[in-house]
Amino acid sequence: MIIGAVGEFELIKRYFACPEIAQIQGQHTSGLRGIGDDCALFDIPVGMQLAQSLDTLVEGVHFPVHCDPFALGYRALAVSLSDLAAAGAEPHSFTLGLTLPSISELWLKEFSEGLTHVAQKFRLPLIGGDTTKGPLTLSLQVQGLVPKGQALLRSGAKVGDLICVTGTLGDAAGALRAVMAGDTPEDCGDAHIKYLLSRYWYPVPRLSAGQWLRQAGATSAIDISDGLIGDLRHILEASGVGAEIAPELLPTSFALNQNHGRDNALTMALTGGDDYELCFTIPRELAQTLPAKLSDDCPITCIGQVTDETGIVRDSQGIPLIEKAYTHF
Ligand code: ADP
Ligand code: MG
Repeated sequence: MIIGAVGEFELIKRYFACPEIAQIQGQHTSGLRGIGDDCALFDIPVGMQLAQSLDTLVEGVHFPVHCDPFALGYRALAVSLSDLAAAGAEPHSFTLGLTLPSISELWLKEFSEGLTHVAQKFRLPLIGGDTTKGPLTLSLQVQGLVPKGQALLRSGAKVGDLICVTGTLGDAAGALRAVMAGDTPEDCGDAHIKYLLSRYWYPVPRLSAGQWLRQAGATSAIDISDGLIGDLRHILEASGVGAEIAPELLPTSFALNQNHGRDNALTMALTGGDDYELCFTIPRELAQTLPAKLSDDCPITCIGQVTDETGIVRDSQGIPLIEKAYTHF
């Protein structure tokens, strides 16, 4: 479809079919046919399963109006990859559905640079998409590969398993006021707020952590997009179990504690979304194999255990924790 003077095809060629993003070689991308045909084609290696996830982001709903296009492109792909991380999958490729109100070449250039940054970092090419005119909306579909039958699911948690999280929680919630004011990490003078803003705009999809946990024998996992309690509850419901967690053990960053105080930081860690850390369960006897850190920036913290009270989250005193996770409607 033609959406303006430049034309859809020229626009795709300039910003999305360029070698920097469309010809990235991943571990399993030999033989791939990407942008330019009616369909993208690729082989799925023997013994592997395709893991697929789609996320749609609407301007004014999922990201602020007139936000920085580089940060938007970066964040959109990082957030999509977080779903592959939760499954323990290895990224393969992605597609992009782009709805634009008008064509701004500067916007497209910066947006595609943000996307390219993440695509190169995690070695996944852009293999196709669709471009239409309308209110600014991004749909990203990511494809990953995982050994057959071994993807981490939400449904495998067992009574007695330990409940753990990666990284620190609540940072993105701690940045929300600055995000809504239009601030970006680049133009923020306060070191703590700058850190929180970078956690919101440049989340780290925990891909290597997810693959490590799959191999280590984690029983379930989810990425924390809507808030710890709400997302943990998805594991509990899918697994038919409950949870006891110790809020005082929740890992919060120095910047969040300094900026909001530890009490508010804990509330944000329990209920704030957008951190894209992983919450997972692991049999107690495997917990000794868990390192304290999977990498410099990826500590692992045990925050509780799985109980037999289906769907209920209690703290260590037995008091039910109330869900305030983001819901879409
Ligand atoms: P069709 O009309 O057959 O759907 P399009 O004209 O929409 O094809 O797209 C032409 C080619 O460009 C296809 O290979 C498609 O996957 C790709 N493409 C379209 N929009 C995008 C985009 N936003 N990002 C990446 N590839 C795109
Ligand atoms: Mg076609």
